[in-house]
Amino acid sequence: MSLVDQFQRRITYLRLSVTDRCDLRCTYCMPERQTFLPRAEVLDLEELHRLALAFIARGVTKIRLTGGEPLVRRDMIELVRALGRRLGDGLEELTLTTNGTQLASHADDLAAAGVRRINVSLDTLDRATFVALARRDGLTQVLEGIAAARAAGLKIKINTVVLKGVNEHEIPALIEWAHGQGMDLTLIEVMPLGAVDADRFDQYLPLTQVRAALDQRFTLAASAHRTGGPARYVDVAETGGRLGFITPLTSNFCDGCNRVRVTTTGQLHPCLGGSEMVDLRAALRSANADVALEAALNRAMAIKPERHHFAIDGKGQAPALARHMSVTGG
Ligand code: SAM
Ligand code: SF4
Repeated sequence: MSLVDQFQRRITYLRLSVTDRCDLRCTYCMPERQTFLPRAEVLDLEELHRLALAFIARGVTKIRLTGGEPLVRRDMIELVRALGRRLGDGLEELTLTTNGTQLASHADDLAAAGVRRINVSLDTLDRATFVALARRDGLTQVLEGIAAARAAGLKIKINTVVLKGVNEHEIPALIEWAHGQGMDLTLIEVMPLGAVDADRFDQYLPLTQVRAALDQRFTLAASAHRTGGPARYVDVAETGGRLGFITPLTSNFCDGCNRVRVTTTGQLHPCLGGSEMVDLRAALRSANADVALEAALNRAMAIKPERHHFAIDGKGQAPALARHMSVTGG
């Protein structure tokens, strides 16, 4: 039986976090001193695989592996291989979101396992800004990773979180760079998920403003292109490329939501911006796991909220949710 929520949205897309760990510390994602989960809490490879198969059995056709940084988990490629064997057999797409630092050594294996497209997060092309933003020096590795992925035949979409006063002036250069290499680029509004060291209000730049500035510089034409996700696209006449906007704060997109997220501890979050949760790990580890999993997935459909309610309205606001994006899986 397929996964349909109480608002008649069919869930066909699973974002599965394979680790909460990361080799970067992006200022909008986590604090400098982030505490990571003890390994015993984290699902092992076989559990992740069983979970993914349970979702495929219920009609999920697309799985995105994420984190934390998925490529820092040692056995991650084994999961990719195992799930890759289901491509064309229930699963239509297997993909991942990565910061790209370890991509150079994994690109060929990912392609061989059946991955065709990946998202790489990159917020700047300037080394000093990268170091300030990610609190680690990794720009060269990321650019090498992107080159290796392209050489392996992977199609890449770049995701850029726009931060006030940090990379907002670089957006035109990022667009020209990405489109110049045949990569789409999507801009994302920063979301108030988890406490970070900065005030969210100081980071937040509404994409309506960014779009207005880009309109002065480029000829942007609305595009009918849709990926089933929250991004809305324009075609950029000057570059011949496609530019996406993900605007959770300035424009709500929950109507067409087709996804759920599972953390690396097996907590299913039916909404990125909600506190609803179903414990799939308990179900997986119970005596009658198949039945318990079925029931847990049904429960997730019953509690998936109609929409998220987060906002960034002023300084000093507490996070909308205590959970960091690196835990839920971005
Ligand atoms: N480490 C991988 C990466 O950076 O691509 C995957 C996980 S990361 C949490 C997934 C995406 O979430 C990245 O594109 C990142 O920029 C974005 N992200 C993290 N925290 C965010 C926040 N508070 N608001 C908006 N996007 C955020
Ligand atoms: Fe790591 Fe991705 Fe979060 Fe940056 S956004 S700290 S790369 S999980």
